[in-house]
Amino acid sequence: MDGNTAISGKTTARLPHAASIYFVVMTLHAAGGSRDSLDWTMIDDVLLDMDGTLLDRHFDNFFFEEELPRRYAAMKGLSFEAARAQLMAMYRSVEGELAWTDLQYWSDRVGLDVVAMHHELDHMIGFLPGAEGFLKEVRARGKRIIVLTNAHRAGVAVKSAKTGLGRYVDRIVDAFEVGYLKTRSEYWPACRRLIGFDPTRSLYIDDDEGCLDAARQYGIATIVHSAKSSSQLPPAYSAQFASVDQLSSLLNGRR
Ligand SMILES: [Mg+2]
Repeated sequence: MDGNTAISGKTTARLPHAASIYFVVMTLHAAGGSRDSLDWTMIDDVLLDMDGTLLDRHFDNFFFEEELPRRYAAMKGLSFEAARAQLMAMYRSVEGELAWTDLQYWSDRVGLDVVAMHHELDHMIGFLPGAEGFLKEVRARGKRIIVLTNAHRAGVAVKSAKTGLGRYVDRIVDAFEVGYLKTRSEYWPACRRLIGFDPTRSLYIDDDEGCLDAARQYGIATIVHSAKSSSQLPPAYSAQFASVDQLSSLLNGRR
């Protein structure tokens, strides 16, 4: 068996209308420079998460876990630790709801202009290593590329302006257009109505296993976990899904 046909993976997806058919993604091993890869002849649409998959999530981690608590502490006269604890409780209170990623909601709730702060810190926004090259190559192969993000459109605008992400993809869909976050079971039927795709011929990549799980439940055939979401953190490989630390490692397969 060569590297293109060897099926060693454990990531399978049950298709919605063809329960007997499985498409198996190879296990993309963490260490040792594995050459495992996808069969690109099986893929028409490439659906990609933004933060932590294409863009460095260090920005978001820093913003919500350090910078916003620091500014909130200064405004309220609190210690950093107290401010951070308060904000973390606020984040948790709307987890799973659109408000969780809504920058206008946070501006109102916290009393700081969160969108303006994104602009101030936009020097920290950038692609993860290999992501731009991956997008160019996938486009050169004639695939449709759609970014599916939970991010708020104001955040998408800042990030796309900074990185030029919009130039590399056919469309960026934020969760507010769909009406749900990607972890929700309602997301995928609504998303499919919005953009149209064949789940049996779609590849979906995300760094959030909750999002991947919802996609698997819906029947997206080929699912890959992005293990290296932040330039400042070690890769965190998934035990449930094929998991890669660079998108470029997916390009080796049959096409
Ligand atoms: Mg993400």
